[in-house]
Amino acid sequence: MEIETPTLIKSTPEGARDYLVPSRVHPGSFYALPQSPQIFKQLLMCSGYDRYFQLARCYRDEDLRADRQPEFTQIDMELSFVDVEDVLAVNEKLLKRLFKEICNFDIELPIQRMTWREAMDRFGSDKPDLRFGMELKNVSDVVKNCEFVVFKGALEQGGSVRGINAEGQGAMPRKKIDALVEFAKGFGAKGLAYLAINEDGTYKSSFAKFMTEDELKALVEAMGGKPGDLLLFAADKDKVVFDVLGNLRLEIAKQLGLLKKDDFKFLWVTEFPLFEYSEEQGRYVAMHHPFTMPMDEDLHLLDTDPGAVRAKAYDIVLNGTELGGGSVRIHQADIQAKMFELLGFTEEAAREQFGFLLDAFKYGVPPHAGLAYGLDRVIMLMVGADSIRDVIAFPKVKDASCLMSEAPAPVDAKQLEELQIAVTDEEKE
Ligand code: ASP
Repeated sequence: MEIETPTLIKSTPEGARDYLVPSRVHPGSFYALPQSPQIFKQLLMCSGYDRYFQLARCYRDEDLRADRQPEFTQIDMELSFVDVEDVLAVNEKLLKRLFKEICNFDIELPIQRMTWREAMDRFGSDKPDLRFGMELKNVSDVVKNCEFVVFKGALEQGGSVRGINAEGQGAMPRKKIDALVEFAKGFGAKGLAYLAINEDGTYKSSFAKFMTEDELKALVEAMGGKPGDLLLFAADKDKVVFDVLGNLRLEIAKQLGLLKKDDFKFLWVTEFPLFEYSEEQGRYVAMHHPFTMPMDEDLHLLDTDPGAVRAKAYDIVLNGTELGGGSVRIHQADIQAKMFELLGFTEEAAREQFGFLLDAFKYGVPPHAGLAYGLDRVIMLMVGADSIRDVIAFPKVKDASCLMSEAPAPVDAKQLEELQIAVTDEEKE
């Protein structure tokens, strides 16, 4: 059943910043524009509409990127009495039909699956592009006794040393390698260690002099290196290493022309962590959103090791872009209460923000789950566009303004007066 949900709603930030709309009738109070219809579709499940979909306009006040606009459209859905498998099955059929009818492309079912852990270990990314290999290898064990301080230091601090093999790129000129090092620094690397294997089996390397012949040999072997290959290594905290190598892998593939736009490689990424730790806020935040169900076998870890709990959450990924994502929802009051507690909500704060959902749950909640696609992203990939702006009429530019209409813009003093809003002038202050 297609059901429209409101777009003037209560601010219940789900991750991104809300866009706010002032109320004239209730001065000093604000509506928020929805980041997604999440809470409404869950309420619909509680009220017995057990299959819902909507083409929903959503708003997120985030920094823009090539695949992100402040307003965008979701294909949103929610289903009752289902678990992960049911949602994936429905969506595989939907994708197969869409790509057949629109792009005349046959998706082979079932779509490949990978856990989040495996995706990070092999590709350094939770949305791996499977159109090419160049997988990450963890060589921490191989280099753990070497004297190279960069490797040693990272391992001593609990990090890892990982590498990728850019096959056949051993003759890459120094200038181009230097550019890759700079690229890596943009993702937080302090540097990038490289080792080119010359055709005669000798090495050209930034760190070979700090290692013994045997150590080098073991390292090359672990990386599957052959004469003519270029090995690139990052050594740091896991998070940095993944970010650096995951992006480097993509950059090299782009330079080598390995990213074919008419090749569609779909992937389900499953078993996302339930939480991620926010250094900035000094606490756990929900990786998907606060209504996501932990995996049954990890429920016992909620009290002892929340960071290790995996969620019944899944993303559909196409060619390195997240097309959509969703999860099975929590439908048990005690698990939801625990979740809010771990996220740092007091009972009052949880009631204040989500009281109307929790109240609905008291009348009985069916087990339910859902998913939402970024429609514009789907179209972007279908037509081979480089930016989401190319498939949206009247898109915003990077600073979220509309060049044509010049929105956002100041408004009349009278309009502000009606809303009882005063704009403070930062400079004067
Ligand atoms: N509401 C979620 C989102 O917009 C998707 C979902 O869980 O269905 O990311």
